[in-house]
Amino acid sequence: MKTAGMSFECETGNYHTFCPISCVAWLYQKIEDSFFLVVGTKTCGYFLQNALGVTIFAEPRYAMAELEEGDISAQLNDQKELEKICLQIKNNRSPSVIVWIGTCTTEIVKMDLEGIAPKVEKQIGIPIVVARANGLDYAFTQGEDTVLAAMVHRCPEYDSLIEEEKSQQSEIHTNSKNKSTSHQLVLFGSLPSNVASELNLELKRQSISVSGWLPSQKYNELPKLGYKVYVCGVNPFLSRTATTLMRRRKCQLIGAPFPIGPDGHMLGLRKFVRFLIKTNGLKERENQLWKNVEDYTRIINGKSIFFMGDNLLEISLARFLIRCGMIVYEIGIPYMDRRYQAAELLLLQSTCKEMNSPLPRIVEKPDNYGQVQRIQELKPHLAITGMAHANPLEARDIDTKWSVEFTFAQIHGFSNVRAILELVTRPLRRSKGNLNLVFPSLSKQTKI
Ligand code: SF4
Repeated sequence: MKTAGMSFECETGNYHTFCPISCVAWLYQKIEDSFFLVVGTKTCGYFLQNALGVTIFAEPRYAMAELEEGDISAQLNDQKELEKICLQIKNNRSPSVIVWIGTCTTEIVKMDLEGIAPKVEKQIGIPIVVARANGLDYAFTQGEDTVLAAMVHRCPEYDSLIEEEKSQQSEIHTNSKNKSTSHQLVLFGSLPSNVASELNLELKRQSISVSGWLPSQKYNELPKLGYKVYVCGVNPFLSRTATTLMRRRKCQLIGAPFPIGPDGHMLGLRKFVRFLIKTNGLKERENQLWKNVEDYTRIINGKSIFFMGDNLLEISLARFLIRCGMIVYEIGIPYMDRRYQAAELLLLQSTCKEMNSPLPRIVEKPDNYGQVQRIQELKPHLAITGMAHANPLEARDIDTKWSVEFTFAQIHGFSNVRAILELVTRPLRRSKGNLNLVFPSLSKQTKI
């Protein structure tokens, strides 16, 4: 990959982020018949309880299996204890799958969750998927990556021989020149259903049907995988899932920018439809969208931004904001898979060139202490940061936006472009309250 001129740095990894077990918050809602069991300590429980806020009062389909002294010192039998809890879950909630989330403690005491799971699965008759979404190895959104990578093994096999025969027969009958019908395309990444349907529709307009999503709405509807199945990620933090899909299930990965912002979405779609002869009016749609959000882009045009980095969405967001006219000083990111994000990095590079903007510094495993000092020196108009630094920076006259909102808000596809800009511009408009008078079309929420 040509990333000449791009500077990648790696710091100490002393930064704030959410623990990856937080992925249960959105995954249990996405996979409607699942149950997530976090096997950890009170620390994990406190974190979940606080981070997930009011959802804990809505009888969510996740729970903690809290380890006791006896578990740690191996006086209790792990298998029996987990079996007891899973039976209780089966009786109370009857899920189609139970996902065990391993934590720091299960790693440190070397609890063999992968070894125990098949035995418990046999006993209780419900599939058990094991994901090690612990804070020792991963950051925030990577929790989803570990769960999806584990689920890849549970997807049914796509029998290319049978399917090819079928498509050959249909080609003889219809004499169709449209090869896209013989391609299987599976998209991976958990998106809210309405956003997923929008992407399905976009692709359908280009005569491509999506054969499945990982994760699916129901566990029993997991997509078929195998050789000749094309896969494409919709989120930048799914590199482990991508590798598992390629290595274990022999799928063909389409490396495309992620569908965040009209530019990324459009290029992604173009990559999907590379088997076809032409795209149907995508460029026009992209131009129209840029026009529709001019009220927002005018606010941020020429402003500078600093990403402290905690959720791996940073490269895609920075690329989109540079295209909107912003200057990005630094992109902090917990983990950078240059192969999986290759298309995104190339787009970032070409966007900087096109917009005549300096290439931002990319800092992997950032050191928050050093970053705060750099923020004080550079004085960006906006810092995208976690809750730990937001208020202290605000007190020092730096406008901030909570990074976690980008994970939970809907930011994918054409229809959510305004949502991203709404988030980014909110603190800027709040600090310059009168801007809402100039742009009355903007959201009323910001007038607080
Ligand atoms: S970092 Fe480790 S101990 Fe802390 S909440 Fe996450 S899994 Fe639990």
